[in-house]
Amino acid sequence: MRSKAEDSRRLAAFFQGEIARLATRPVRLMEVCGTHTVAIFKAGIRQLLPEAVELVSGPGCPVCVTPNGYLDTAVAYSRRGDVIIATFGDMLRVPGSSSSLAAEQARGADIRIVYSPLDSLAIAAAAPAKKVIFLAVGFETTAPTAAATVLAAEQAGLENFYVLSAHKLVPPALRALLTAGGARVDGFLLPGHVSAIIGEAPYRFLAEEFAVPGVIAGFEPLDVLQAVYLLVKQIAAGEATLANQYRRVVPPDGNPAARAVLDKVYEEADAAWRGIGVIPASGLAVRDAYRRFDAPAALPVEAEETRDHPGCRCGGVLRGEVRPAECPLFGKACTPERPVGSCMVSVEGTCAAWYKYGAGRWQA
Ligand code: SF4
Repeated sequence: MRSKAEDSRRLAAFFQGEIARLATRPVRLMEVCGTHTVAIFKAGIRQLLPEAVELVSGPGCPVCVTPNGYLDTAVAYSRRGDVIIATFGDMLRVPGSSSSLAAEQARGADIRIVYSPLDSLAIAAAAPAKKVIFLAVGFETTAPTAAATVLAAEQAGLENFYVLSAHKLVPPALRALLTAGGARVDGFLLPGHVSAIIGEAPYRFLAEEFAVPGVIAGFEPLDVLQAVYLLVKQIAAGEATLANQYRRVVPPDGNPAARAVLDKVYEEADAAWRGIGVIPASGLAVRDAYRRFDAPAALPVEAEETRDHPGCRCGGVLRGEVRPAECPLFGKACTPERPVGSCMVSVEGTCAAWYKYGAGRWQA
């Protein structure tokens, strides 16, 4: 009897061989999710693919796509003596226009790292004289927990808890990328975690309106290799459909219960994406019924005028138009220790992944 490892090796060899056989012309595939980017680098998937198949990263790292203006607002809140900022650790080092939350923390601002939005409620309960603002950043995966936190705050009668929402929705960003047409994309590896919430239907427009295939993919090396194979196979056959490679985790209709919680607290709103600009209905705003938890509505604050960092090409990287090594600051002025742009901050950021795994020996 063959071992599981042997089965996996055989399958990987099959996918690799078929991809090489089918990729008879240059093909550009975009992995939308930062977790895929890291999985691809870690497993050395790029090295297994023929030269004709290029993998480019897209706007799927939540920290990376959060624009300077949001950071500037968070910094402005942190400078108020009556505010505690609760945030995931990644956001701390993202540079805003002229400061960062890490710099403000060093100057004495009360900024706490949380591992779940729900941790913010304990902070609020323990500090009733302060206003606790949770930085609600992330895609469809994390937004339901942020929504559940607002509902829990209401139930607990907390009057000093707020969210600063920068939640983003993946499908409208893909539509914006395809409509803009800046970077050629022949197929999408679609994010497994986001899809576990939203299901398959929101991606159908890729094939139906743009004739671009998409495959919802898992994060194991074999998952990614199989997803690439399924995309290349469709492209070689001149077909475009939506496939779900990650059925063991992603039901076709996603997670309706999580979406119901989300819909109770949030509604779709136009949102600004770093490097892409404002995309219609691509973000989540707090509904009127929960306005008292919405930081900008309940606690207006004046932020500095937003400026982008000269030289940083994060925008092009997030649109799949620029490789990190093409940025003149990459590995020089901008490193994970001293990031200039958001794409170098998070471990899921494209620039950080290129730096860590030495993609192509940093050749552009
Ligand atoms: S290397 Fe740094 S400065 Fe250049 S695009 Fe990436 S994050 Fe921006």
